[in-house]
Amino acid sequence: MAYIEFRDVVKRFGDNTVLDHINFGIEKGDLVTLLGPSGCGKSTLLRCLSGLEQVTEGTIILDGEDITNVPASKRNIGMVFQQYSLFPNMTVEQNIAFGLKMQKTPQDVIDKKVAEAIAMVELTGKERAYPASLSGGQQQRAALARSIVTEPKVLLLDEPLSAIDAKLRKALQSRIREINQELNLTSIFVTHDQDEAMVMSDVIQLFHDGRIEQAGSPVEVYTSPVSEFAASFIGSYN
Ligand code: ADP
Ligand code: MG
Repeated sequence: MAYIEFRDVVKRFGDNTVLDHINFGIEKGDLVTLLGPSGCGKSTLLRCLSGLEQVTEGTIILDGEDITNVPASKRNIGMVFQQYSLFPNMTVEQNIAFGLKMQKTPQDVIDKKVAEAIAMVELTGKERAYPASLSGGQQQRAALARSIVTEPKVLLLDEPLSAIDAKLRKALQSRIREINQELNLTSIFVTHDQDEAMVMSDVIQLFHDGRIEQAGSPVEVYTSPVSEFAASFIGSYN
């Protein structure tokens, strides 16, 4: 059994079938990309995994447990969004400490873990800064630190770099990959950018209209597209 399994997951909003029998597994420690055009259901699948949406049909397994009906607060899943991920009225340090405080972690442990997380995302010196005074890239680093400091079972990243300029995006892509390996995290990274999927992923799940069109390593998906859609979508990579 894989660490995460989507089994025949269907999600409908009224008559609109947004996820149409999704079946795949994710191995522990992998960074898997959900790649596909806007509106194909990527964020909805993440929201079903994190518990922010209920599936209409099907089952989601995490670490051997059926979590389909487990409330979001009990799933232990970290999430970083495209933007507005931080609490604006808290400093970087307070933002990162927030989840640990909620878990009633002792203050000395909080201090140590927050300092480690800040070092890991290379924000040393910005502990007392407020989000509004940080660049977009720094804000996403802080959001990443806040998500990993509680040691979640899975880290979900929903287009976290799409509002960041191209040069900085490259550096953050590498850092996210390195952190994933250092912490042996299992991560799902959503993007509509095939270039980003190519450099980041262990496995790409290519989405099209609520279905998985193709799955494989970046090289497999790039060299052997299974359909016209896959060829044209991946083929625009350069
Ligand atoms: P993606 O992240 O791939 O761009 P989404 O998962 O956000 O796609 O959306 C997929 C489809 O589901 C879209 O047609 C969107 O309008 C619809 N959708 C998403 N969330 C809701 C919702 N809460 N209510 C109704 N429709 C929704
Ligand atoms: Mg989305």
